[in-house]
Amino acid sequence: MTERHVDVVVIGGGQAGLAASFHLRRQGLDFVVLDAQSTPGGAWQHTWDSLHLFSPAAFSSLPGRPMPVQVGEIYPDARHVVEYVTEYEQRYAMPIVRPVRVRGVHRDGAFLRVESDGGVWRARAVISATGTWWRPFLPAVAGRTAFAGRQLHTVEYRSPADFAGQRVVVVGGGNSGAQIAADLAYDTELTWVTQRPPRFLPDDIDGRALFDAATARRRALDAGRTDTGGVASLGDIVAVPPVREARDAGLLKASPMFTRIERDGVVWADGTHTAADAIIWCTGFRPALSHLAPLQLRGTRGHIATVGTRAADEPRLHLLGYGDWTGPASATLIGVGRPAREAAREVAALVR
Ligand code: FAD
Repeated sequence: MTERHVDVVVIGGGQAGLAASFHLRRQGLDFVVLDAQSTPGGAWQHTWDSLHLFSPAAFSSLPGRPMPVQVGEIYPDARHVVEYVTEYEQRYAMPIVRPVRVRGVHRDGAFLRVESDGGVWRARAVISATGTWWRPFLPAVAGRTAFAGRQLHTVEYRSPADFAGQRVVVVGGGNSGAQIAADLAYDTELTWVTQRPPRFLPDDIDGRALFDAATARRRALDAGRTDTGGVASLGDIVAVPPVREARDAGLLKASPMFTRIERDGVVWADGTHTAADAIIWCTGFRPALSHLAPLQLRGTRGHIATVGTRAADEPRLHLLGYGDWTGPASATLIGVGRPAREAAREVAALVR
């Protein structure tokens, strides 16, 4: 199979891959983006129907091109994000090849060899930007396999119409859990379960304030001051309008975690039982990093140790967009720009 040579391979063509592309282009580097999806938009193409951003358009922009306002919406929906990133990659004529799934990144002398189902690329550096949507996390709960009803994760949930009139247990006290619970609150018999009492952010706080909190934390840490705690210190759930409405209507009452699952429902700590037709696990994600396994880089909790975005033990590899461990707020539209710029600068210094 022929091998192609480039300065940099970016793995993943979602928003993080696009932000990296913008800054690699500015650095004048020769690069390619390999994306497993057939069409632009990364994970935004697959979210549930009613999902809206938790920030207005003006605070949801990638570098270089502001997100346009969505007519009639303060908080744009996922469809608008897909349109925006589609236009973004066309406008900048990003060198994206899709669908191409990277199977493994290997050390190969002075190069990294990127093996994919679309061929092999040899590069001086790799930026991995594969997101987390593709690795849903489900906790180990006794009896999970015994449940006879329907079980699904956030990534499979689409609309309340699929559960109309059913007894549904939603598990998870983060944004996905709260938003999906709010979505289901009107047309189903809902039980919302959270590990600790839900922590709603004050109603006037949206993605703007979250970005400010993440930035303040970064500045404090960089200056050697006390950790401000960042976003987590404010709460877990952004009170976007549908969540606020369901909460204010008294429909979002959370129960503590059940102790086990049975064939037809869940069992609580006091031994009582709630029948269920479906359990929806809104229990988060892990970084999709299996393609980096050949590099044998170790970190904690499925992460890889990083200095900024650079892998601590492989200077030719950068990780972008997975969470605060790859840059403050880097798993957001507005937050990924800065770590992308820093990654591109470091890569440029390395390959020149
Ligand atoms: P993705 O969008 O997942 O893109 C990664 C791309 O890499 C995909 O196209 C994937 O197919 C590809 N890929 C994966 N593995 C491979 C491989 N081996 N080879 C090649 N390609 C591969 N952020 C905000 O700013 N505002 C919000 O309101 C907001 N709401 C969110 C709501 C939910 C429910 C979730 C889950 C996240 C939300 N986020 C929000 C966070 C974040 O902006 C999104 O998760 C975003 O999709 C992350 O972009 P990404 O580019 O890092 O990853």
